[in-house]
Amino acid sequence: MPDRPPVFDDREDAVLTEVVGALVESERALAELEGVRIVQFAAAMRVALRRSEHRPRAIQEREMALRSIAAEIGVALRWNDRTVQRRLGEALQLVDDFPTTVQALSDGRISARHAAVIRDVGTELVDPTLRAAFEARVVTRAASDTAAGTRAFARALLEELHPASITERFESAEQQRRVWMEDGVDGMARLGVIDGAAKIRAMYDRLTQQARAIRVVARAEAEVGDIHPDAVQDRRTTDQTRADLLCDLVLTGQPAVDPTAGTLPGGLGAIRANVSVIVPALTAAGATDRGASIDGLSPIDADTARRLLAGAPAWDQLVTHPVTGSVLAVDRYRPSPALQRFVRARDVHCRFPGCRQPARRCDLDHNHDHARGGPTARCNLACLCKRHHTLKTETPWVARQLPDGSIQWTSPLGRRATDRPERYVAFVPEPDPPPF
Ligand SMILES: [Zn+2]
Repeated sequence: MPDRPPVFDDREDAVLTEVVGALVESERALAELEGVRIVQFAAAMRVALRRSEHRPRAIQEREMALRSIAAEIGVALRWNDRTVQRRLGEALQLVDDFPTTVQALSDGRISARHAAVIRDVGTELVDPTLRAAFEARVVTRAASDTAAGTRAFARALLEELHPASITERFESAEQQRRVWMEDGVDGMARLGVIDGAAKIRAMYDRLTQQARAIRVVARAEAEVGDIHPDAVQDRRTTDQTRADLLCDLVLTGQPAVDPTAGTLPGGLGAIRANVSVIVPALTAAGATDRGASIDGLSPIDADTARRLLAGAPAWDQLVTHPVTGSVLAVDRYRPSPALQRFVRARDVHCRFPGCRQPARRCDLDHNHDHARGGPTARCNLACLCKRHHTLKTETPWVARQLPDGSIQWTSPLGRRATDRPERYVAFVPEPDPPPF
């Protein structure tokens, strides 16, 4: 940390304050306009539905009224008519099923992207009362969070409210698992796979870790000038390396090139996926099936969660309190300092407002600088990704941790934003006291 924060010109600060203010204002105005547009789209969709009521039964023919109206609007707006058709349907769904969201958008409290998240996730709730309860909570969250943060919150809340438990839904959803291929252009093609979130996240994490290990070796060799013949041209991005590794693994069962063999015990093959399995205590004990997730992001079914809890020692395993959602126990095969595990478990991801970098890829930052007497204690430590750790160290951004674990950020221009720790559960506690 530099001794003194860099000094900025006051006149520049005045310009920036004005710019940020104007941007906030235009964001609000855009949201209001989007509200207007959605109401108009919904009105057009209603006309289309009314006109197709009397049409014969063939779907093709019933859709003609809608197609014609979508084309009419598309030509007027210079939009693709298929896009218009999709937007008409989405707009009517918002107006009919998510009135609180449309109101918040029209008031400029949330953006169109937040509204899309609420519709996208909330559409799974068929019961109007449940959906209204869901909507009210998520709109409040959306007013103070990014679209991505709102999506994670909405999905956790959906798990709590959905009448069928995720175990039941997973059972039928898992039947849809498959691998497919599509031809692309320029000699390329695409391979897709759908399977349980635990497996897919673990696969992606392992590929990412392997790709990073390869890059570390390539960089180190370039620095000392000791260039291995295989690594000479290794200027691949992480994305490209992940793709190469996946192809190697499927086609030959192992990476074709392993530059880490000399430096990493066991080479690339020894790298195991590392994701956090978060399981509420009642689910761990088998009393209920709700609330388990991977990294606090992907809800998973209770059977998978319990199986991982019992038999996947390389993964972080967190058991959370059934009511408060705070962490009760952390267990891990490879030992690391308990405090570090606690902070990563509490934070789930980087604590800069809106950042979702997983905690295990973050640095542990002393909110109050250690060199200036800040204690190494949970009340002074937080996960920050590389980008936001550097931002805090190198610029006048200030972070202060409050007693409840919230972090209050103050920008160079004096704007305040508070990041609250994840609670893992998004629901209101049930009145019965838990057996703890
Ligand atoms: Zn970050």
